[in-house]
Amino acid sequence: MTCIFCKIIDGSIPSKKIFENDELIAFHDVHPIDKVHFLITPKKHIENLIACSEIDKDIISNMLLLAPKLAKELGLKGFRTMINSGAEGGQEVFHMHFHVYGGSSKLVKI
Ligand code: AMP
Ligand code: ZN
Repeated sequence: MTCIFCKIIDGSIPSKKIFENDELIAFHDVHPIDKVHFLITPKKHIENLIACSEIDKDIISNMLLLAPKLAKELGLKGFRTMINSGAEGGQEVFHMHFHVYGGSSKLVKI
């Protein structure tokens, strides 16, 4: 197995874990772009949103619903989410993950 996030999920690579259940895991990003920056990822190896199908709709909605819960637990009153999909979408790790980040006082509007 070469997928780095699958290795985090099976525990062979350490991570700063925030949450885990049968379906999902969340951990702090090793290179944070904000005061708080974590990733939510499914335990099922799905490459990205492009590779998702109807059968993954529960996973996707549960990932999104988890974001505000964990953000609140980590002290964020608001946050941004980012989902890089495909190399041309800036994706570097090809195991789907949602970035959740916030906490800085300066917010660049996009
Ligand atoms: P993306 O460009 O959306 O594929 O983002 C991949 C993210 O994974 C980057 O923000 C990396 O900093 C992060 N990352 C890579 N390896 C690890 C790791 N071992 N633990 C935590 N985050 C990681
Ligand atoms: Zn994987």
